[in-house]
Amino acid sequence: FGARRNSRGRDLSDAADLAQIEAARRPHAEAVYHAAPLTAFELPEGGAAEPVLAPTFARSSAEVAGRLRTATATEVASAFDAAQTWEAPAEQRAAVLNRAADLFEAHEGQIFALLAREAGKTLPDALAELREAVDFLRYYAKGARALTAPARGIFACISPWNFPLAIFTGQIAAALAAGNAVLAKPAGQTPLIAHLAVTLLQEAGVPRAALQVLPGDGAVVGAALTADPRVAGVAFTGSTATALGIRKSLARHAPQAVLIAETGGLNAMIVDSTALPEQAVRDIIASAFQSAGQRCSALRCLYLQEDIAPHVLEMLKGAMAELTLGDPWALSTDIGPLIDEAAFRSISDYVAAARQAGRVLFEGSAPATGWHLAPVAIRVSSIAEMTREIFGPVLHVVTFRARDLPAVVDQINATGYGLTFGLHSRIDDRVQTLVERVKAGNIYVNRNQIGAVVGSQPFGGEGLSGTGPKAGGPMYLQRFVQDAAGAPGT
Ligand code: GLU
Repeated sequence: FGARRNSRGRDLSDAADLAQIEAARRPHAEAVYHAAPLTAFELPEGGAAEPVLAPTFARSSAEVAGRLRTATATEVASAFDAAQTWEAPAEQRAAVLNRAADLFEAHEGQIFALLAREAGKTLPDALAELREAVDFLRYYAKGARALTAPARGIFACISPWNFPLAIFTGQIAAALAAGNAVLAKPAGQTPLIAHLAVTLLQEAGVPRAALQVLPGDGAVVGAALTADPRVAGVAFTGSTATALGIRKSLARHAPQAVLIAETGGLNAMIVDSTALPEQAVRDIIASAFQSAGQRCSALRCLYLQEDIAPHVLEMLKGAMAELTLGDPWALSTDIGPLIDEAAFRSISDYVAAARQAGRVLFEGSAPATGWHLAPVAIRVSSIAEMTREIFGPVLHVVTFRARDLPAVVDQINATGYGLTFGLHSRIDDRVQTLVERVKAGNIYVNRNQIGAVVGSQPFGGEGLSGTGPKAGGPMYLQRFVQDAAGAPGT
């Protein structure tokens, strides 16, 4: 970071800052992170059970990055007891969220280091993620001022590891902007980033009773949060299967609660013969492989019109061979590691089966240590062959004839998912028709299909991909306050 100054004129070569950044990069073999300092309620001292000190790992080396105390089901119940909605006027809540955005920016170095270390984010991904988190804070702060209805009550915010800062912060910021009390469960893989985010939110002035963090397993903490009759709403981002489980649990225990879910996708891109190959290849690479394909928006199945396919595939092969995998902290790295060993093993097995079946078109190369998986292109005859979302750098490729385009659209829609869709074509009528026919929350034309921008590109899917309203869009906050009639509603 040298002697660069950030927008506030703070010198990043300042010893304290560098020490913070260094600390975030180093293994925390001795460090113990507790849930307790983050929360309003005091975790029972000397309770019956010994605290579980769960390790969280550095993604590129699989060494322990820190340990934290995970919450028990009893502690989730205590958190409900202690939770209090944020009664400050909207103007004041907005000011606190804006202050938190400033603090996030002021801690950029520490945040980048932690995102690289604990989540395996490359520096460009970490930068985009901090920017998105800050945008969420400012966007919902602005929205808070326009709300007229009261908060719903206690919101459970359950977030994923793939955007451990942006989505974690976005859910919380929305719920708090509306004046709710938040019980947040960060993903098990990325609690240290959540710890830092909450520390900064509290430093900005979010009351402890309005924001409590409960790190731990979905099976314990997530289950307890969504089976408590006091929960007024759940904001969830993660797998479709987990979202369906949450819906069931709420129906049984808290039927008044709203569920806002952003889930998985089987996202397609169609490239027709009028596309510019160079542009299409650049956007395929970004859509399928950026963030190691660990985005729910990522391209999973590429439909290439046969006339253009050989040319595009040859260029794609060359571009994939040039992708550099490695230490996320290195500036030359294009793709970082997968999130953990389980992901690495399951996706490696999937690719091995495709290799054995002779369906691998080409693959890049990956370092032998850490959970690095080489980007790979696999031939399939239809998206229907994909029975599940493969959350990694795996691109499926289908070639199609022009006259089969309507059937292609049917295949894409028949997955039941509807998150992102990409299209490369220079025929206006075709673009118009496909945009109308393909069922997807976010459709991108002649560009990549990842990286929705808060405010200008609200993000969310339909069908199996989510409930809406879209995050970072004008309707989102409305779901966090009571319905117009005053009844909580669903
Ligand atoms: N908002 C992200 C994007 O547009 C994806 C979020 C996710 O993967 O959950 O790429």
